[in-house]
Amino acid sequence: MVDFQLTEDQIALRNKARKFAVEEVLPASKKYDRTGEFPRDLLEEAFQAGLMNLGIPKEYGGAGLGSVESVIVVEEMAAACAGITTSMYANDLGAAPIVLAGTDEQKRKFLAPLTQKFSLVSFATSESGMGSDVAGMQTICEREENHYVLNGNKFFITNGDFADLFVIFARLKDTKRHQGICAFIVPRETEGLSTGTPLVKLGHRASDTATVMLRDVRVPTENLIGPEGSGFLLAMLTFMHTRPAIGAMATGLARSAMEYAMNYAKQREAFEQKISHFQAVQHMIADMYVRVEAMRLLTLKAAWLLDHGEDANIASSCAKLAGSEDAMRIATDALQIYGGRGYLENYAIAKLFRDAKLFQIYEGTSQIQRQVIYRYLFEEYEPVMKGF
Ligand SMILES: Cc1cc2nc3c(=O)[nH]c(=O)nc-3n(C[C@H](O)[C@H](O)[C@H](O)COP(=O)(O)OP(=O)(O)OC[C@H]3O[C@@H](n4cnc5c(N)ncnc54)[C@H](O)[C@@H]3O)c2cc1C
Repeated sequence: MVDFQLTEDQIALRNKARKFAVEEVLPASKKYDRTGEFPRDLLEEAFQAGLMNLGIPKEYGGAGLGSVESVIVVEEMAAACAGITTSMYANDLGAAPIVLAGTDEQKRKFLAPLTQKFSLVSFATSESGMGSDVAGMQTICEREENHYVLNGNKFFITNGDFADLFVIFARLKDTKRHQGICAFIVPRETEGLSTGTPLVKLGHRASDTATVMLRDVRVPTENLIGPEGSGFLLAMLTFMHTRPAIGAMATGLARSAMEYAMNYAKQREAFEQKISHFQAVQHMIADMYVRVEAMRLLTLKAAWLLDHGEDANIASSCAKLAGSEDAMRIATDALQIYGGRGYLENYAIAKLFRDAKLFQIYEGTSQIQRQVIYRYLFEEYEPVMKGF
């Protein structure tokens, strides 16, 4: 059965998120983008409004909502500010490995508090020497009696400077690549863990991005998520669950870029008429609408598969790839419709253009998504027409 109708609860959730995005996030977005200040108060407001940590199961005090609900909320937030949304939903990325593979005890100890008091969780695989090549990480863990000792540096960690909790991936000493990668839950106050000064970025400036240093960090064995060596698969499983949200962020940003472009085209005159009268401009905007619709459908499909316990790996990569590429294209075309003004920082379109770029990079670059899709096509896909 195919059903494109949202439930009443989903519509109510979307309306609540939209109201919060329009009334709270949008008015603040320019300030946080300009100053690079971390929007902690705003994130806390979102938490109080029940718009964060949506996927934490009910038995641990969470809302227990599905991926479909998550992408509905993320699209609305990102339409107002992608940077604030990146920080808001980094908690879903950080908590996902615990939700997916944590023990009951780990969930009670680390997920339940997230639902009771505003706090932030960061997810850390990337290092300065690797991002795409997750198996190539150099952070090392060594087992010593009832704890592991972690040493290394993590780079590009969203909310790292403010996180209360980290999920950190490291490789067992003397193992190679995928084999020995482990995931650990590491509270911020753990001795030997420190963060550097926030990284200065092109876009998503409201979102904090940090270096995390680990010097002889002792993590109790009970904080290992899953068996030793299961960390690589867990990271991939996490991305399968979180990539649809990047598709949703891209959809929200693209939708706003289209709306700004429409509004500007109706006002701006050239050659004694509104630029919206030019067919070239009309077609650019029509194409934007078609792509926004397609991005949303791919995102919802991936989220639906996840909610129905299906393998969503390819659908998630499709949603992330199409969303990222289309958001960049739409932001570029919207800026083009603004002409020279699009290039000025005092028009919102410049921020959307800067923010769109990140979707093609984090949680697996567009090239990595294409690798995932290509591998499926050449190794698993069953052609319909077999007679070639
Ligand atoms: C603002 C921001 C926030 C981030 N947040 C987090 C976070 O919270 N946690 C975290 O762990 N990481 C985070 N990252 C890191 C992010 O996931 C990586 O930057 C990303 O995966 C790319 O890795 P890299 O930068 O090392 O680029 P590289 O892996 O060095 O890639 C460089 C280029 O080579 C291409 N390339 C690499 N391998 C292949 C291949 N096999 N085939 C084709 N092309 C290839 C890439 O597509 C890219 O164009 C964040 C990054 C940014 C910028």
